Amino acid sequence: MNRALDNAPATAVKPIISIREVSKRWGSTVAVDNVSLDIEPGEFFALLGPSGCGKTTLLRMLAGLEVPSQGEILIDGQDMSDIPPNKRAVNMLFQSYAVFPHMTVADNVAYGLKIDRVPRPERDSRVQDALDLVQLGHLGARMPDQLSGGQRQRVALARALVKKPKVLLLDEPLSALDAKLREAMRFELSQLHQKVGITFIMVTHDQDEALAIASRIAVMNKGSIAQLGTPSDLYEFPSSRFVADFIGSVNMFEGKLVSDKPDKAVVGCPELEPYPVFIPHAVAGREGSTVWVAIRPEKMTLHKDAAASPAVPQCPAAHNVARGEIKEISYLGDISIYHVQLAGGRLLRVSRPNRSRWDQDNFDWGEKVWVSWDGSSPVVLQS
Ligand code: ATP
Repeated sequence: MNRALDNAPATAVKPIISIREVSKRWGSTVAVDNVSLDIEPGEFFALLGPSGCGKTTLLRMLAGLEVPSQGEILIDGQDMSDIPPNKRAVNMLFQSYAVFPHMTVADNVAYGLKIDRVPRPERDSRVQDALDLVQLGHLGARMPDQLSGGQRQRVALARALVKKPKVLLLDEPLSALDAKLREAMRFELSQLHQKVGITFIMVTHDQDEALAIASRIAVMNKGSIAQLGTPSDLYEFPSSRFVADFIGSVNMFEGKLVSDKPDKAVVGCPELEPYPVFIPHAVAGREGSTVWVAIRPEKMTLHKDAAASPAVPQCPAAHNVARGEIKEISYLGDISIYHVQLAGGRLLRVSRPNRSRWDQDNFDWGEKVWVSWDGSSPVVLQS
């Protein structure tokens, strides 16, 4: 993740992309619904959301492959209404990253420059630069079928970058690769982005991928932007149940806001009774209203007995604690997930890092445990 851009767009830099009240409809299908969004030069921006949320349609409108039904798109300050795809300062890397099978790697990369009639010496030097950039400088003479999946992906990247676009659009760029390669390519994409310094806009439905590489993410739902923020904003401060649930794993409880004071809020959740959820600050809600409490699995702690719990359940003011039984333990190598069933039947997910090679297993299936969490861990959501 590009930390330097974490807090974009707080600065007053002119956006490279401005999307203003853009909608796209096909008959009664509203693919994109009144989206407004500014993207700054140099960002690695991700459009993230479930299948059908409109992210590809939005990307295709930036590329000029779809025309908005309403609203306007500006690229580098210029209105794109009458600008065809090949005249836009953007280049698109497609999901299938198809390369021409009958051309060498170098000819694949040179193709767009040939069409633009770039003279031979300049073309050759730009092709070599682009291949060096993606670490394929030594493979220009190879045919695509002599390359690995990851290398073919890099040819497609070189082909997109050789034309020096101001913005590179990436449509699910890593989805055709296997899991191991995908992870390696995430790192490479991020490195490449830092080297070339241009704006990358990536569409993905893979939240891990977006969190790992993007400097800012728009989470989309049903054609609209549900939340816009840095990866850590979205994970730590989701603004709705949809985002809390879509980004990472979460334990969610419906409840009532019992009280909301400047220094503390209390929520009663039937599934966590008899202990309330206590938050040491205001949550800006209406007392008595329905709210949802979201707590990430790694922010919950298992205890063998009540005395070990910081919330001391015997105390009349006990809070932020629940009693349950371990129903299942999923060992995932770096962490284990404990599925803890509460009295009412609800299953909690609690994760613990496996720090020691010999001692990860000090909780067992069927064991009765206490689960507690710190007051700073719950997020109280109103929708
Ligand atoms: P996925 O991850 O599955 O590609 P997406 O979030 O990219 O999904 P879009 O491809 O943008 O979603 O599609 C948004 C909505 O618009 C969907 O309901 C889709 O069926 C519809 N849609 C997309 N293209 C067309 C089209 N050419 N004609 C009619 N409807 C379309």
